[in-house]
Amino acid sequence: MVVFATKTFKQTKRTKRKVQKGIVHIHSTYNNTLVTISTTQGGVVAWSSAGACGFRGARKSTPFAAKMAAENVKSFDEGTDSKPTRAEAEEAVRTLLKWAGEDPKREGLLDTPKRVTKAYEEFFRGYKLDAHKELSKTFEDIQGFDDMVLVKDIEFVSHCEHHMVPIIGKAHVAYWPDQKIVGISKLARIVDIYAKRLVSQESMTKQIVNTIDEALSPLGCAVMIDANHQCMSIRGVNKLHSSTTTSMFSGVFKKDIDVQRRFMDMIKY
Ligand SMILES: [Zn+2]
Repeated sequence: MVVFATKTFKQTKRTKRKVQKGIVHIHSTYNNTLVTISTTQGGVVAWSSAGACGFRGARKSTPFAAKMAAENVKSFDEGTDSKPTRAEAEEAVRTLLKWAGEDPKREGLLDTPKRVTKAYEEFFRGYKLDAHKELSKTFEDIQGFDDMVLVKDIEFVSHCEHHMVPIIGKAHVAYWPDQKIVGISKLARIVDIYAKRLVSQESMTKQIVNTIDEALSPLGCAVMIDANHQCMSIRGVNKLHSSTTTSMFSGVFKKDIDVQRRFMDMIKY
C-alpha cells in the first residue's frame, strides 16, 4: 500500500550551507520498506529503502535523511496526521496571492487566507467521509420489487483535479436491487462524498458505480454525469456553455440494451 503525504521541512544543505524550507512529499510503503521524500521543487532529497537512507547528489547516507525517513515512517505507523497545519495552509494562500500580483498585507486581503482555508475544508470534506460506510445500512425487505431505482438530477459542485476549479453539474444514479435496498438519500450522499474531492469526471462516474456495486451487490448499476467544467469555460478554450457527459453501466444496465435505454429515457437523454 502506497501512502502519499506532505510535511513541512527545514533542511540545511551542506553544499550551500543555507537553510531551505519547503514542503516534502512523502511516498511511502506502509510496511517501512520504501520511503521517498521529494521537495516541492520536484527533486528527491532523501530516500530510504530497508533502512538505507541518503541524499541523492551526496551519494551517501546522512543523519538528516535517516532521521527524516525514520520519523515519517513512524508517523505513518502511528497513524498521526501528517497534513500541513492551518498556519502553513494560510501561508500557502499568501504565496498564491503574491503570485497573482497582490499584496497579502492589503486590508481587504488580511483575512483572505483564513477564509480560503475554511472554504477548502468545505470543498474537500469528502476526503474525511467514507462512501462505503454511507451505504452500509441496507434493508432486505424489498417485497418482490423488481425494477430499477433511479435518483436523478442530483446537483453537485466538485473541483477538477487538474486545475482545482469548479465542476458544476448533475448526476443520475440508478441501481437494480437484488437482495438489498438502501435509503434513496444515500445515493445522493455518495455523489456528494466523491464530489467533495478533487476529481476527474470519468473517475467520479466510475467510483460511484463501483461503490454501489460493492456495497449493495445489485443486479446492475447506471450512473450518468453531465457537468460544466470551469477549467474549460472560464479559461483555456473558453467554451462557456459546453458540458461534458459521462456514463457507466454495470450488470443488467450493461448487458440489456433495453434496460439501458429505459434508464436514458427516464433521465431524458
Ligand atoms: Zn481542469
